[in-house]
Amino acid sequence: MKKKKALGYILTSGLISASLLGITVPSFADSTTTPNGPWVQDEQNLSFESLMSNEQLEKKLTQIEKASQGRMVLEQFGTSNDGYPLYVGKFGDNDPDKKRVLIYTQIHGNETLGTEAAVELMQKLAAGGQEAKNILDKVSVWFVPRINPDGTANLYEGKPFPTRYSHQTWNPEELGLPSGTKAPWYYNAEGSERGQNNEGKVVYGIPGFDLNRDFHPDYDFDVTEEISKDPAKVASILNERGTNNGSQASLVFSPETRALTKLVKELNPDVAIDLHHRGFNRLSEDDSRSVSIQLLAQFTTKPYTDPFSEKTYDLNPEVLALSKKVNAVAYESLQRGNSSYGAIQKYPTVNYPGSGLGAIQLNGTATMLIEIKGQTQTLGQKQNGMLKETAKVPVMAVLNSIADGSVENANPAVYDAIPEYALPVSPGGGHDH
Ligand SMILES: [Zn+2]
Repeated sequence: MKKKKALGYILTSGLISASLLGITVPSFADSTTTPNGPWVQDEQNLSFESLMSNEQLEKKLTQIEKASQGRMVLEQFGTSNDGYPLYVGKFGDNDPDKKRVLIYTQIHGNETLGTEAAVELMQKLAAGGQEAKNILDKVSVWFVPRINPDGTANLYEGKPFPTRYSHQTWNPEELGLPSGTKAPWYYNAEGSERGQNNEGKVVYGIPGFDLNRDFHPDYDFDVTEEISKDPAKVASILNERGTNNGSQASLVFSPETRALTKLVKELNPDVAIDLHHRGFNRLSEDDSRSVSIQLLAQFTTKPYTDPFSEKTYDLNPEVLALSKKVNAVAYESLQRGNSSYGAIQKYPTVNYPGSGLGAIQLNGTATMLIEIKGQTQTLGQKQNGMLKETAKVPVMAVLNSIADGSVENANPAVYDAIPEYALPVSPGGGHDH
């Protein structure tokens, strides 16, 4: 396995960096405003040491496959830039007579809880039992539990420091583009991550991409081919701000996103679910409950015309309606019985044809984004179990509703009525997906 070494580490803020690496964290939460936490409190220990490494995940997946007695097949579907295998756990094949669901997680390497939730869901389906049987008789479910192993394995000063971005250096000449061609807008050239409480930053020094902006709705789009046909055209698209921004599709530069695109094309899922983390905020001005999760059903607000093929991709209203039904099922599953799940919001409106779910939804697949509370950098191990449940409960509800057909009867208006994202309040409150 080839590994890249960081060129060097630059400390930009002693306090912030010390709080990430070292083990105590200055107080930044006012517990009087946070009735249903979890909020990070004074001097709380933060540690990444016990989060699942790539090697541990691989071992776990192998065990699940073995225990599944044929229910799950583990396959490597790609390789990361740093040489880590990318795995898919397949419960069922891409049989067009079955419903098909794709669940993927940790496209941002520092958003680790989705992976742990996915692994527990895989264990549950692998173990059999009536619920698993009911689901798997009708639905093929493919899990991609970690798309960004390089960001996951990132180190800072020799210690685990999972980061949002991948590891990949922009090198236009290597691609056949003129030297000096600008990088895609989601390239992190210095290799840095926001610090504690979204303040300041830590420069770990390895450039990379935000992989969740590196997609194209044309699953067969091949930038190498476009460069060989017309390098000046590709360069001019990258060099202009008007064509190199978040409202455009990406040109798909990363091995991780290319591999995932191929897998999505192979499965052609009815529903795709992407698990993330986000920052903290409270529900509204009047309701100070800390938001447990955010959901999102819609990833583009405008048609997108690809400048290469001239093809226009438009969100099909039926696909949007099914997306809202899926999200409504997820929302309602969290309203039952456990008040700590209750405070749910919509993720802010976005128009991202180049995000994973943006591109997938433009291909006719219903979509759901789940943003679990708390970036790992701010939360560490605190209350992981409860947070994992806020992802597992809605995913199981969605799988059951697809299996028994009840998702079709869900009401899109339930989704529409989920409160909108309110302005962030301290602490944290930045949002990502
Ligand atoms: Zn994310």
